[in-house]
Amino acid sequence: MFGKVICYKCNGNGYRSIWKDTSETEKVTIDCKYCSNQGEIDITEDVIKDLEFFKKTPVSQHDVLADNVKKFLAEKKDSEDKKND
Ligand SMILES: [Zn+2]
Repeated sequence: MFGKVICYKCNGNGYRSIWKDTSETEKVTIDCKYCSNQGEIDITEDVIKDLEFFKKTPVSQHDVLADNVKKFLAEKKDSEDKKND
């Protein structure tokens, strides 16, 4: 386990507000499937891949996410190095 980060899709709310239709007059609240309403997500390789999206979406948790991701990548590299021994 590499820890959890605040879900950057819903900003830790566990749900998201989206426009009901394209006219953008009414908002509806939907469950955040990305974190299963937890407001947090485990750091996985999929999350790392999604960082490309995250980079374009500034959120308050930027530093926390970046920190945990650095740890993730460092440990991943570590275990890969060991494999190569
Ligand atoms: Zn979420």
